[in-house]
Amino acid sequence: MADDDGQTVGVRDGRRLYDGIDELDRLGGPNGEPTTVTAPCPVCDTAVVVDAVAVVERGDSAFAAAREGRIGADALASIASALGLTMGAFDGVAYLRGRHGLTAHLLGHTCATCGSRLTAVASYGEFQPARWQLWFDGLVVAGDDGEHPSPR
Ligand SMILES: [Zn+2]
Repeated sequence: MADDDGQTVGVRDGRRLYDGIDELDRLGGPNGEPTTVTAPCPVCDTAVVVDAVAVVERGDSAFAAAREGRIGADALASIASALGLTMGAFDGVAYLRGRHGLTAHLLGHTCATCGSRLTAVASYGEFQPARWQLWFDGLVVAGDDGEHPSPR
């Protein structure tokens, strides 16, 4: 869904959830770093709970989604604009860059209150050698035309 200006509606976040030596499979869970966040639904403002580890593990990498045609460059650019991220290009593919150049991941989510289809965005990767970071970038309203990835 887009607003009257044709821009993706979203709620920008940008919380760094993890910065350290552990890789993703050691985050989350009862004994791991807290990686679940609460953010307002961009449509109804009700709190939506997002597990950022799940966004990375179960979501689509923005680069792979762009390269394989699951999401268009325009849709990614709109997400970038809504969440304060930037676009990159590699090997002829325009894609959404994650925060600080990390890999952006996208996971479909349905608001339990208003039923809106949303896309959660999280950035994850090796920020420096042996230093991994996980960021929650925010929630955007998913495209009506299905151009945003869906949960798998
Ligand atoms: Zn909602």
